[in-house]
Amino acid sequence: MPSFYRKIETMTQYDLHTHSTSSDGSLSPTELVARAREQGVSHLALTDHDGTEGLDEAMAAAEQQGITLIPGVEISVSWHGGTVHIVGLQLDHQNKILQSGLSTLRDYRRERARKMAERLDKAGIPGALEGASQYASETMLGRVHFARFLVEHGYAKDMRDVFNRFLVKNKPGYVSSHWATLAEAVDWIRQAGGQAVIAHPARYKMTNSKRRRLVDEFKTLGGEAIEVSSGNQHPEEVRVMAKLAEEFDLLASCGSDFHSPDKGWSEVGRITALPPNATPIWTLWQ
Ligand code: AMP
Ligand code: MN
Ligand code: MN
Ligand code: MN
Repeated sequence: MPSFYRKIETMTQYDLHTHSTSSDGSLSPTELVARAREQGVSHLALTDHDGTEGLDEAMAAAEQQGITLIPGVEISVSWHGGTVHIVGLQLDHQNKILQSGLSTLRDYRRERARKMAERLDKAGIPGALEGASQYASETMLGRVHFARFLVEHGYAKDMRDVFNRFLVKNKPGYVSSHWATLAEAVDWIRQAGGQAVIAHPARYKMTNSKRRRLVDEFKTLGGEAIEVSSGNQHPEEVRVMAKLAEEFDLLASCGSDFHSPDKGWSEVGRITALPPNATPIWTLWQ
């Protein structure tokens, strides 16, 4: 086939999990949309952690640049002693129930950030709260902002180094988390007219039987899909997750979990394609 044929594509490319400066990403919503378009993404969901402040800007930018923006969020959930993330897609981000739920999580983030800074201070690292805040938006303060502070000030080599030596269990700066329940997260998303998706299910450090329990409980609560394909995920893992979705009669989503163009983060739009046995979540939207 002559190479120019490949350029006249009507190809659709979905990336349904990304972050902006409204949470712990490093591009503004407008910059994110531009980068997604450059990377060939036609349908982009902005799914910032526990907040939707970036959506209005992202929607305006997407309209201007001719791509489709799917309004989303990524909700932090505590489940059986660990943290899992639930993405909401195609939601009405003005919805009051959703917004009041998210605001409790952001309040908790502020409280957690103060404790994290206290613990870092005790470990000989002063000024972390002010330092981390400089990398964060008004509304959302997270571990990545602390990580940027630790790297910039020479306490750690890079992000990976931070998450090995700080801010995780038994390391300086760690605070155990108390997020939403799984039922709350699914409910807020559904009340806002959206679909709930288990984010990066292969990434959780849990046994396969516990993972199946998570999927089962999620399905019972009215969850719609699992993220079968995530950034930097091995194709074999994608196949396993597609089988899991199929078995529980759940739809399949895919998203890069893009945070930044910097080394170590996955690129926007770069995701292994969903296998043929997966039913994409966007079949609901057509
Ligand atoms: P938080 O919700 O504030 O606890 O922060 C969670 C975020 O930290 C995730 O969304 C990632 O962006 C980042 N993160 C967590 N673990 C790692 C890791 N091992 N390496 C790099 N980033 C991580
Ligand atoms: Mn993040
Ligand atoms: Mn996540
Ligand atoms: Mn994410």
